[in-house]
Amino acid sequence: MTNSTLSPIHIIGGGLAGSEAAWQAAEAGVPVILHEMRGVRGTDAHKTDGLAELVCSNSFRSDDATSNAVGVIHAEMRLAGSLIMACADKHQVPAGGALAVDRDGFSEAVTAAIQQHPLITVTREEVTGLPPEEWDLAIIATGPLTSPALAEAIREKTGKDALAFFDAIAPIVHTDSINMDICWFQSRYDKVGPGGTGKDYINCPLDETQYNAFIDALIEGDAVGFKEWEGTPYFDGCLPIEVMAERGRETLRHGPMKPMGLTNAHNPNVKPYAVVQLRQDNALGTLYNMVGFQTKLKYGAQAEIFRMIPGLENAEFARLGGLHRNTYIHSPTLLDQSLQLKVRPGLRFAGQITGCEGYVESASIGLLAGRFAAAQRKGETISIPPATTALGSLLNHITGGHIVSDEEPGKRSFQPMNINFGLFPELEPGSIVKPEGIKRFRGKDKTIMKRQLIAARALEHCKTWLGAA
Ligand SMILES: Cc1cc2nc3c(=O)[nH]c(=O)nc-3n(C[C@H](O)[C@H](O)[C@H](O)COP(=O)(O)OP(=O)(O)OC[C@H]3O[C@@H](n4cnc5c(N)ncnc54)[C@H](O)[C@@H]3O)c2cc1C
Repeated sequence: MTNSTLSPIHIIGGGLAGSEAAWQAAEAGVPVILHEMRGVRGTDAHKTDGLAELVCSNSFRSDDATSNAVGVIHAEMRLAGSLIMACADKHQVPAGGALAVDRDGFSEAVTAAIQQHPLITVTREEVTGLPPEEWDLAIIATGPLTSPALAEAIREKTGKDALAFFDAIAPIVHTDSINMDICWFQSRYDKVGPGGTGKDYINCPLDETQYNAFIDALIEGDAVGFKEWEGTPYFDGCLPIEVMAERGRETLRHGPMKPMGLTNAHNPNVKPYAVVQLRQDNALGTLYNMVGFQTKLKYGAQAEIFRMIPGLENAEFARLGGLHRNTYIHSPTLLDQSLQLKVRPGLRFAGQITGCEGYVESASIGLLAGRFAAAQRKGETISIPPATTALGSLLNHITGGHIVSDEEPGKRSFQPMNINFGLFPELEPGSIVKPEGIKRFRGKDKTIMKRQLIAARALEHCKTWLGAA
């Protein structure tokens, strides 16, 4: 395994992503120098000097690899020899169908494994600028709380609109859960625009009574406050909808819910009082985001209130909205398929700073970055996981699957993303077949079967990918 004549890969940040990247590269026989600033300089959320510290919840979410996308990515990471998953499994605590861990035991196990690896050297220092040119292969995995000096250096290199310090996430809905008997496709004033057809948005109509009930629910809804160190990141055009609703009953109707230029295709003679618009979020067309609906409402309240919108009564949310302090780059325009910065080949990004979200997702992108960098160092062909796998679908979303909106200032349409089934390509037509002996095969049964088939395909394709890698 060892081949220490190779020059090292430098990894900045020893969180979930950086630790996994270091492990994968070292296991591939490539030396690693891991630069972690904690011990010298802290962050606003971390409390220890341990590698892979979990800053909040101790849950890695669902461990069901048969019908849950998070469980599928767990399984794929285990297949790929993930250190994060091995330590999580070893330090598991009871949590029903979820994988939850003893956070201290978990972080101590990751730290020990990294420190004891013969090919990994850990240095405790803050990296305050872009990696020097002599670090020809490097990975930046400094997470949502990247230190200010490094963030500034990244911003200088990528351009001011390409690095965000806060996210402003509008909820994203699985397209097949939208009721098209109520909603219709239309762009405002039927505008065709670049790459459009005049029917680019899904529109949900509200009458006056429905609108007023919706506004009341928003105002009364339970919201999450900002932590003191986060500040209050309200910037132009990006107010949470509940804050807009509080500013005046009509504010939303003159803002993101304005009905102008839209005619209800199901009922052309009745002008909607307000309209919620959803815009395609991924190239596959399986996900649509609720335009202008960034929110700090609690998740439970969001699901309940947004299902009051006609057409979204059975909406399945791929992700709910949020607004947090979060440093991340505009990956779809900046990175190539192997996570390299296009303007500086050899420099990769990994983890939450790439625009994925969550412990597991961050570690999974670290896993890929570590493998890609190691392959490059060894002169091997970089093997990209197919988009039908959970690893590949998330990578694909970050590096190209997400649709970049030309209309929005600062290209804010790219928002952090969890792994979910909406990121996977559709099954071959005819894959979903009513099982024999079952009388009623309803929409819900079809959704469950679809997820099971996508999960099984993902694991099969992941095994093939790893065999070939
Ligand atoms: C307050 C908060 C709560 C969260 N809660 C959850 C949750 O409950 N569940 C969940 O799944 N996700 C949660 N997240 C998201 C979570 O942070 C990420 O999912 C995950 O930790 C990201 O992994 P990462 O490796 O990209 O970044 P991190 O785990 O944050 O690791 C980045 C590392 O880089 C180091 N670093 C930063 N700058 C430098 C520098 N210049 N030089 C050297 N080292 C540097 C940091 O010290 C840190 O160790 C939360 C995030 C925050 C900020």
